Amino acid sequence: MEQPPEPVLVSACLLGRECRYDARHNRDSVLERELAARGMTAIPFCPEEHGGLGTPRPPAWIERTSASAVLDGKERVLTDAGVDVTAPFVAGAAGALETCELHGIRRAFLKERSPSCGVCNTHAGGKLVAGPGVTAEWLARHGIATEGVEGRRE
Ligand code: SF4
Repeated sequence: MEQPPEPVLVSACLLGRECRYDARHNRDSVLERELAARGMTAIPFCPEEHGGLGTPRPPAWIERTSASAVLDGKERVLTDAGVDVTAPFVAGAAGALETCELHGIRRAFLKERSPSCGVCNTHAGGKLVAGPGVTAEWLARHGIATEGVEGRRE
């Protein structure tokens, strides 16, 4: 019997939504084809918009070290002007997990280097560092398998 499609969470900008901080997207047609070939249905989600941040919005990064520190209440997420956007980032992460629970999602494909979605790399202290963003860390803590995607492939 044919398996039903597996729902997976995907960073909305990878699917062409213009939800980046600069109102651009990171559409990845290779990812879209791979998901379809693997029998997966993409559920688009942008944590930063979900958390209430508009588009466009100022760039932001984890204050000093890691998403773990943010989620443990030890650090903030700040814009380039020093505005505290921790609460919307944490709300976005919570919304991502709620979306996974709602759709029975166990796997997420997330845009690398984002302070929300990055899986292997994110931005902290104003520079690129190893480690996940806030949403990727929150999903991983709750047993969702996360895979980083660079994006922008035809
Ligand atoms: S990387 Fe994540 S937070 Fe940033 S625009 Fe894409 S979906 Fe939204």
